[in-house]
Amino acid sequence: MFFSRQTQPPVSSAPPQAASSSCLENLRLVRSKAARRLALRVDPARGDICLVVPVRTSEKKAWQFAEDNLDWIEQRLARLPKPIPFEDGVIIPIFGKPRLISIVPCSGRVTTIDLTSDALVVQTPRADASTNIKRYLYSLLHDVAAPLAATKARSIGRRVNKLQFRDTRARWGSCGVDGDLMLCWRLVFAPIEVIDYVVAHEVAHLKHMDHSPRFWSLCDQLSEDMNFACNWLKINGDKLLTYGIRP
Ligand SMILES: [Zn+2]
Repeated sequence: MFFSRQTQPPVSSAPPQAASSSCLENLRLVRSKAARRLALRVDPARGDICLVVPVRTSEKKAWQFAEDNLDWIEQRLARLPKPIPFEDGVIIPIFGKPRLISIVPCSGRVTTIDLTSDALVVQTPRADASTNIKRYLYSLLHDVAAPLAATKARSIGRRVNKLQFRDTRARWGSCGVDGDLMLCWRLVFAPIEVIDYVVAHEVAHLKHMDHSPRFWSLCDQLSEDMNFACNWLKINGDKLLTYGIRP
């Protein structure tokens, strides 16, 4: 089971009109076998909107649908946060605290990264160290999330089989029937209470594979502050998807 962070796109189709707009350039048409109807889906990580088209629907009809929803598209594009790459001088939050990325060029072949209270210091011979930074952030999240997951699971008599991190866009975490937990690596940018909640949520699924009242009660019990975390994700969730992305 997982919890989704996707916003609802409009799904109705209006009669065709002769209209066009430059904001349609930010639209990506994606053919989908699973889709039953035309839909627009916001992708904050890519800074665009996806036009989901069922295989049997014509492209012409799809673009007409997009034109009919121009107001919605324009509003959503205006609200999309801008991508923030991992570059020297850029500020990113780590565990919710702003840190300045400081890239120090060095000779040799090894990149070393240190986290201080207000900076991420990267000594590197590489022109682009973003892959190293991403790998480092994965390990930071792992070091926080793995003990949290193990402790919470133990407290309810369950065991985490495997903990994985992925670059997911539509969900913050998931839990498989085999006890495998998955977390979005971008949670490393969120405050610890938020990471704690997402871990608690997935661990609670080890016992209840649904979103029943019993599940929510256990999730609340396992979380440090569930209400704070849920609200935080609702307000700031999209922003987490923009870090480490080149404009
Ligand atoms: Zn869930």
